Amino acid sequence: MSIDAIDITKDFDGFVALKSVSLSVNRGELLALLGPSGSGKTTLLRIIAGLEWPDAGDVRIEGKSVLRVNARERGVGFVFQHYALFRHMTVFDNVAFGLTVRTRHLRPSKADIAKRVHELLELVQIERLVKRYPSELSGGQRQRVALARALAIEPIVLLLDEPFGALDAKVRKELRRWLRRLNEETGMTSIFVTHDQEEAMEIADRVVVMSQGRIEQIGKPAEIYENPANPFVCEFLGSANRIPLTWADGKMAHPAIDLDAITVRPALVGAENIYVRPHDIDMVKDAAGVGTVRFLSVVGPIARVDVEVAGLEKPVEVDMPAHRLTRAGIEVGAPVRLTAVKGHVY
Ligand code: ATP
Repeated sequence: MSIDAIDITKDFDGFVALKSVSLSVNRGELLALLGPSGSGKTTLLRIIAGLEWPDAGDVRIEGKSVLRVNARERGVGFVFQHYALFRHMTVFDNVAFGLTVRTRHLRPSKADIAKRVHELLELVQIERLVKRYPSELSGGQRQRVALARALAIEPIVLLLDEPFGALDAKVRKELRRWLRRLNEETGMTSIFVTHDQEEAMEIADRVVVMSQGRIEQIGKPAEIYENPANPFVCEFLGSANRIPLTWADGKMAHPAIDLDAITVRPALVGAENIYVRPHDIDMVKDAAGVGTVRFLSVVGPIARVDVEVAGLEKPVEVDMPAHRLTRAGIEVGAPVRLTAVKGHVY
């Protein structure tokens, strides 16, 4: 199902949580709402779900306004970060819940419910835990139950609010991929909220970057990464280095980064700052270089290096393959020269 949020505004006692937000989700799409804490992601999701009402604007599913349709009847499955499972119910009953509370003429038979629950538990790969209570499950298992429960009602739209936020890195990765596959196999339209840019970039078809109740940019992961619409998006997506610029006769002048390598696109002329991502900087040892290595850590194959540059408030972060660092003989205290990779300056 396609979803449109049109000019949504939401005010909580004078605090504007959403400022005229519009977005369209295509049928079958997996969309990520990405942004820092307090940017309005959850509020937007809750409005789409029907758990919250906008002060202005409209929500449409398949082109029809659903503002007057209550949450239960919107056909929306919802999963929260904190698996709100019923503690006194087994896994089976938790998953069956949405089916058993249906009005009589819609309620499946007991046998059909049992069949459906087993199918769902198989889908989320926890069939053997059917008789357990939530307290007897790990975090990842509980989240799978929550997913199975949301899917039980055969939602036309699946909404997930930081569904994997509370899980450890390995389980999170596994469930992320599972969600991606589920989306591909079922063709269900899904929107998930996250503040983890890696999560959004890895599995979403498109990413909506939000900040302070507004949408900063919407696009495919590679699009927003390669062409960030503004400094906020650029910094939020990849811990970019902000380098203040000075200009002389229409020419950029700054000692921190070798400027020959920077193509001064017309859009950059006169800019107060440029942004360069840590892995888009080349570093060589050079006694005449303007930088000095201050900190160095090697995480697996990647070396993260902080380079102090006179005139810059913050050190420039550089990422490079660890073996190149060793080969170049770069260590703490070494003088270095930095070059920005052509075209990768924002
Ligand atoms: P997080 O990642 O921390 O969950 P978020 O991007 O999902 O953040 P929201 O939960 O949508 O942000 O909140 C947006 C803003 O609206 C926040 O400043 C929050 O304090 C405020 N807010 C949300 N719900 C309410 C409420 N019921 N009453 C008052 N203010 C609220």
